[in-house]
Amino acid sequence: MQGFSQVARPIVAIIGRPNVGKSTLVNRLCRSREAIVDDKPGVTRDRTYQDGFWGDREFKVVDTGGLVFDDDSEFLPEIREQANLALAEASVALVIVDGQQGVTAADESIAEWLRMQPCPTLVAVNKCESPDQGLAMAAEFWRLGLGEPFPISAIHGAGTGDLLDRVLSLLPPKHEEAEEDEPIQMAIIGRPNVGKSSLLNAICGEPRAIVSPIRGTTRDTIDTRLEREGHPWRLIDTAGIRRRRSVNYGPEFFGINRSFKAIERSDVCVLVIDALDGVTEQDQRLAGRIEDDGRACVLVVNKWDAVEKDSHTMPMVEKELRAKLYFLDWATMLFTSALTGQRVESIFALAALAVEQHRRRVSTSVVNEVLKEALSWRSPPTSRGGRQGRLYYGTQVASRPPSFTLFVNDPKLFGDTYRRYVERQLREGLGFDGTPLKLFWRGKQ
Ligand code: GDP
Ligand code: GDP
Repeated sequence: MQGFSQVARPIVAIIGRPNVGKSTLVNRLCRSREAIVDDKPGVTRDRTYQDGFWGDREFKVVDTGGLVFDDDSEFLPEIREQANLALAEASVALVIVDGQQGVTAADESIAEWLRMQPCPTLVAVNKCESPDQGLAMAAEFWRLGLGEPFPISAIHGAGTGDLLDRVLSLLPPKHEEAEEDEPIQMAIIGRPNVGKSSLLNAICGEPRAIVSPIRGTTRDTIDTRLEREGHPWRLIDTAGIRRRRSVNYGPEFFGINRSFKAIERSDVCVLVIDALDGVTEQDQRLAGRIEDDGRACVLVVNKWDAVEKDSHTMPMVEKELRAKLYFLDWATMLFTSALTGQRVESIFALAALAVEQHRRRVSTSVVNEVLKEALSWRSPPTSRGGRQGRLYYGTQVASRPPSFTLFVNDPKLFGDTYRRYVERQLREGLGFDGTPLKLFWRGKQ
């Protein structure tokens, strides 16, 4: 699977029967759900890759879904294919079993299959809530022949820290120095007819001028490499952009899954919006996905030449468009014309700035200066029972996107309004234009 080597972060594959607690564990490892606002229109939940971090390491978690290996039924070829693919790109396979049920025949078939796989495997024995019984329950799983079983409770978090320490020890070493030469992965995203291929042509010249198409993850994905602003860039899935619509799939289908895949592989997304149509529901779905996946973004409003305008038009249009894309309020908006070439080259400069912010790290002392200032202007809320929220300190735990953990006495005391206030203050104090931020509120015990 050479295509996946483009994903810089190592991958942890989660394997197991249905109902053993895979999604509960994934949510705990990734903690990204907290950051998702539910009122976003049409945000789908079918994502397969999620960003996880522990200590100073970042990785991706892929949930392979419930594997069923019944003794008497053939392992369906396509499920096997999916699971094989997931494992081929993974640095570690984490098999989850149910400690309360004990070893089942299905666990044994999964283990047999895993023993033939090249990547290291860890066994997490879930639903071990009681510490004394947990070890005994876990011991039974030595039988699977996959090494030491780790008792955990995905629901309560018991044992997951030790498990993660072990996962980290199996990841390939970090190559921070390599980051400089790594190409910036840019995805041009948008509905059909907004002008993506015209912009692409304006950016890199006519199709035949593209020198180095690189094969991507699937057979008909072509990426394009070029140099701009002193960086190497990789434009993701340019084949998908250029492909003429020879088949009419109807208005609903525009390969949104293909767009989602491109977003997943990108560092920065250029979301192209048609100035004549404004923001549609499909634009909102794409934008929601960009935010959910924590990608940097530049908003490009194309066909600006076709808009009748005076000196007030641009701010007015910007305000209108932003009202519908309020969840990307951190993204810079650029008005372009692929037809005349107006401001097309600025796309790279803005994308480079956004990526720089996306990768930025801020020291704990600076974060806390900003938090102290924020607290002095506005104290955390007090509950009805008279308990006062306390924010002790914060620290940046990850980049891409910048993620902060805020240690508080009780996260429940911090409502949405105050959380948004703190995020605004962090942005005001620290910048971060062009990138989403993730904030994790953690109770201190
Ligand atoms: P998946 O199908 O493997 O993704 O499993 P889910 O994460 O959806 O969990 C299946 C069921 O097991 C749910 O009812 C969870 O509430 C429950 N569950 C998950 N983790 C634990 C745990 O640590 N302890 C207990 N007792 N139940 C759990
Ligand atoms: P894609 O489907 O998003 O790749 O869109 P295309 O690049 O194929 O463009 C769709 C249509 O919009 C074509 O007829 C283009 O000529 C036209 N178009 C693209 N960009 C512009 C622009 O900046 N101004 C104007 N007036 N038309 C444009």
